[in-house]
Parts: sequence; structure tokens; C-alpha cells
Amino acid sequence: MPRSTLSGTLFVVATPIGNLHDMVPRAIETLQSVTLIAAEDTRHSGRLMAHFAIETPMVAYHDHSDERRLEQLLAHLQNGEDLALISDAGTPLVSDPGYRLVHAARAQGVPVVPIPGACALIAALSVSGLASDRFSFEGFLPAKAGARQRALEALARESRTLIFYEAPHRVLECLKDMQAAFGDDREAVLARELTKTHETVRSAPLAELIEFVAGDTNQQRGEIVLLVQGAPKRADAELDAQTQRTMEVLLAELPLKQAASIGAKLTGLKKNFLYQWALDNSQKS
Ligand code: SAM
Repeated sequence: MPRSTLSGTLFVVATPIGNLHDMVPRAIETLQSVTLIAAEDTRHSGRLMAHFAIETPMVAYHDHSDERRLEQLLAHLQNGEDLALISDAGTPLVSDPGYRLVHAARAQGVPVVPIPGACALIAALSVSGLASDRFSFEGFLPAKAGARQRALEALARESRTLIFYEAPHRVLECLKDMQAAFGDDREAVLARELTKTHETVRSAPLAELIEFVAGDTNQQRGEIVLLVQGAPKRADAELDAQTQRTMEVLLAELPLKQAASIGAKLTGLKKNFLYQWALDNSQKS
């Protein structure tokens, strides 16, 4: 879509996730210079505006706003006015409103410019000590237990670091469901109240992390990011052709556990390793 030559620019502006000193100078300048700020909650953002002496008018916008509000914002942009989009905290569109507006603005050729800053998932990942080369941000898990358990089971073989946002009153339940889906020993991290007074970053195997959170109700308060180590890589690449053939023959005749046990005796490999290999391969077929 060609750029709309007369249109203004939509700035997508990140705001702090707790500590106001994390507001970047470019964000302040941008919010002061635009004609209008589309905010998730104007009352909530009013405090931020007052702190930085930003007097630009604000209008409420979220992804459930009616079509008219969206059209009004697009009309401002088409009239050549610059607009900023902010959410209550952190980066807009990351588990926050803004998708519809950004999508529509880009479709109309309106320039959309990011003003990067705080984002809870990136802050948490950066201090988690978990692999950060590849990760999967899963946002909020379903609130209902059954749906949450199914979502976690579907992620059990995901090898990338998993990142979740979670509400404090559900954190313990959620960790227990993670333990059921991923096992006791999978390394996990609770990143709580980042950039605030009670900032806590605790890493431990899931079973231990549950004990820590269950034993201290303070850990079930505030804003929380949960991170879980990815599943170990599939074992199939590490079996030589002859061992693979042996396992295939055993698996054709025997239940998985027994096949792994006999396979271990025949090949000298570890029973758990062959069990995992068999599990991965039965899931693939
Ligand atoms: N857009 C935001 C961002 O860039 O991170 C996220 C908004 S989402 C509605 C709010 C969730 O983000 C919280 O429930 C929590 O899971 C996470 N979060 C936000 N601020 C946080 C903080 N200071 N410490 C830990 N987690 C935080």
C-alpha cells in the first residue's frame, strides 16, 4: 500500500511497567508533540501525563472500541495530524490493545512508527538465565483449568523457552498445571513486580518453585511473568540406524515402557533416553 502523502504519523509508544524512570526521553517528546493520544484507559494514563507534564488531549481506545472510534482516529491521521497510541503499561499490542488501529493505519498507508521501551516479557527473559536465542511468548493462558491444562499439554514438546503472563490469584494453580504437563524437574522462573520495590526473580525446577510460591503468599501478589525452560530436543537424531531399527521392531511388538527397557539391555543405552525417543516418535506418526 503506497504511503498516504498527506497523512500524519501514528506513533506506538511504550510506557513504564512500574518504575517511571524507565520512560524514555523520546516517548515524552512524542507524547508532548502529537495532537492526540489514544490511551487504553485515560484515567490510568492521566497520572503518567501529570508526572511528565504532558498536556496533550487523550481519548480512550481499546480493541473493543466501536468502529466509529477507530474511524475517528483514522480520520485524524488522514487529516495530517500525528497521533500516539499508549496502553496502561509497557508496549502497546503486547497482550494490550492496539492491533486493530495499527493494522488499519498501515492498510491505509499511514506511517506507523515505534517508540520502544519497557516490555515485561523482554525484561523477564533478559534476567531469567533461560535460553534466550529462541522463545515463544504465549501471553495469558486460559483462565479455566481444563482449557489451561490442554494448552500446556500442547506445549510439552516445545523446545523454545516459554513465556507466559499470569494473574497473581492464578499463579499457584498455573504452576501446578505446568508441573503436570512438563514434569517436576523442568527449570522455571517467576519474575514478579519487575522494576518495582518488591521485584523478585526466582528460578528453580517447577516442583521447588511451587513450594516457594505456596509457602509465601506475597509471591501470589502483584504482576507476574512465568518462564519455563524449553523441552529437551528430540532424541531421534542421536540414535544410529541399527538402534533405530531395533527400537522399531521392539515397539511393533511391545508396549512402550517394555520396549525401552529391553532396548536398553540390547543396546547399552539408557532406558529413559529410549523411552523419550519412543514417545517423540509415536507422537510424530
Ligand atoms: N503491554 C505490557 C508489556 O509490554 O509487557 C503487558 C500488558 S498485560 C495486560 C499485563 C501483564 O504483563 C501482567 O499481568 C503481568 O503478567 C505482565 N507485567 C506487566 N508489568 C509487569 C511487571 N512490572 N512485572 C512483572 N510482570 C509484569
